[in-house]
Amino acid sequence: MEKQQFKAESKRLLDLMINSIYTHREIFLREILSNASDAIDKLAYTALTDDKVGIDRDQFAITITRDEEGRTLTVSDNGIGMTKEEMEENLGTIAKSGSLGFKQAMEKNEDIDIIGQFGVGFYSAFMVASSITVISKKYGEDTAWKWVSDGADGYTIEETTKEGPGTDVIMTLKADTEDEKYSDYLQEYEIRSLVRKYSDYIRYPIRMEVTKSRPVEDKKEEGAEDSEENASPKYESYQEMETLNSMVPIWQRNKKDVTDEEYEIFYRDKFFDYNKPLRIIHSSAEGAVSFKALLFIPGKAPYDFYTKDFKRGLQLYSSGVMIMENCEDLLPEHFRFVRGVVDSQDLSLNISREMLQHNRQLTIIARNIEKKIKSELKSMLENDRESYEKFFEVFGRQLKYGTVADYGAHKDACQDLLLYYSHKQGKLVSLKEYVEAMPEGQEKIYFAPGESRERSAKLPQVETLDKKGYDVLLFTEDVDEFVPQTLMTYMEKSFCNVSSEDLGLQTEEEKKQAEQKAEEMKGLLTFVKETLGDQVKEVRFSENLGSHPVCMTPEGGMSFEMEKYMKRANPEFALSVGRILELNADHEAVKALQAAMTEDPVKAKDYAQLLCYQAQLMAELPLEDPYAYTELVCKLMK
Ligand code: ADP
Repeated sequence: MEKQQFKAESKRLLDLMINSIYTHREIFLREILSNASDAIDKLAYTALTDDKVGIDRDQFAITITRDEEGRTLTVSDNGIGMTKEEMEENLGTIAKSGSLGFKQAMEKNEDIDIIGQFGVGFYSAFMVASSITVISKKYGEDTAWKWVSDGADGYTIEETTKEGPGTDVIMTLKADTEDEKYSDYLQEYEIRSLVRKYSDYIRYPIRMEVTKSRPVEDKKEEGAEDSEENASPKYESYQEMETLNSMVPIWQRNKKDVTDEEYEIFYRDKFFDYNKPLRIIHSSAEGAVSFKALLFIPGKAPYDFYTKDFKRGLQLYSSGVMIMENCEDLLPEHFRFVRGVVDSQDLSLNISREMLQHNRQLTIIARNIEKKIKSELKSMLENDRESYEKFFEVFGRQLKYGTVADYGAHKDACQDLLLYYSHKQGKLVSLKEYVEAMPEGQEKIYFAPGESRERSAKLPQVETLDKKGYDVLLFTEDVDEFVPQTLMTYMEKSFCNVSSEDLGLQTEEEKKQAEQKAEEMKGLLTFVKETLGDQVKEVRFSENLGSHPVCMTPEGGMSFEMEKYMKRANPEFALSVGRILELNADHEAVKALQAAMTEDPVKAKDYAQLLCYQAQLMAELPLEDPYAYTELVCKLMK
């Protein structure tokens, strides 16, 4: 029979597996058992709606058979089985669900240590087996198929016979070496402990024939004397099928009986994330709708998290039967990073997936889950700042999106969870912390948008506020500015964009004085405006410039950062924000300009243009003609 070749990447993985270090090898059993369990899940789900399946729920089982002489270990299930095509597709390729993360880590050349941590699937059996035979019959088909492979050089498939639907995975263990006794995996004790360790929660019984012993019943021969020998009871050993796993899914167990390690192993296996979760929420609700939820806040974002490909959702079980792999309706978009399972006996088993969407119970569960996640994050923010900041670094952007999405419909869930960088404190603070630290007299929440914290910190307005002892939040992400626009106020304080809005620092008296001064120096403003023409919308004085001579301020509510963002996001429809040139009347440079107006009007025009360039540079606005700028500087230096 002609050998079929594995796909290229599968081959590489296979090589890795075959040569993996021994500590990881034992996970092969977990992988094979969880495949068996998945296969039963599929048939069990079919059975819910299809009477023809003809298997009672309690007949589903996984059987492990040891053959010490033949050196084979067999895992059999009575699940859905595979067709010939499915065998080729599933067992000949590695780029399948669980293995994907592994493949990616492999491409990044991460340590081989990852083997123990991933759901690496069927292939892991080659860590212990020199040859694997898979015999499978798909539910509803008449023909069974036999797939055989010795590892790297490919596989064969041929027709065979098998009684019911399901799959047998027959592993011929490698010969023992000095370092590794593969035959250990044929030992009853070893298998029992591996099942307990990794697969205890599998919901179908994992059965194996085990050796037991019992006292031999005394069959006293008539007339025989009681001898010494007969006094101590005799034992005989016998074989009996035993269920090795407790079958209680981890979320059904009592929180206090589950160890952190068990939670972590479960998380890793189920969600293929080898990073420890940051938080684990295990909750049980009774009431209008009863349910159990086991939720995880990951420590890292999946590679596709901020893309359209990422699917949010929780696994949904109804009385222990998985009815949906990814139930989106259980998880709001702003908490889409959460992974986990929900199990409720109040959901009808035969509910169609479409019907679920409008299901009242589901809505109640979803609301409850949203609250749980929010309060968990809040408690982390308040009590475990270090972890929270780690979390925020990864998923903070999602919470900001959540705050602004749907015109702020979800702001209550998100706004208290936001962190921004505080200029004054030099660290991240929540909005609440910012407001609570506001000194007397400060009325607004000040924020400065900019490309980097360093740049924003240098804004003249920030300097001015700093002198007054007022803190400024430094915004650096595109989405940041939408937050104040959506919230309008926080704890009754309004937001103020320092680079585009009035800082509100002047008293009525000061305002009047400023107006008067502007009136007196009106000639200067007119001169500069006329000189600059269309380059600016308006020229005015500002009291907020501190030690700086000029500043470019956007007209209206939109900042220059927002303008840039819009241009990137949608170049065709982007609008330009009007530029307003603000002058500091007390600054030497501005005074020099005023003096030049009468002494040397040509020079005064050059000064006006130079100040305009400076303002643009400081606002991080690109100069339309950098050459004109350098020529001007050189001209003035001569
Ligand atoms: P994963 O389980 O992560 O998808 P595997 O390499 O373990 O990756 O398995 C690949 C596929 O082979 C499975 O998704 C499943 O479709 C199929 N498969 C494996 N074992 C069985 C089984 N015992 N019964 C039915 N299908 C199976």
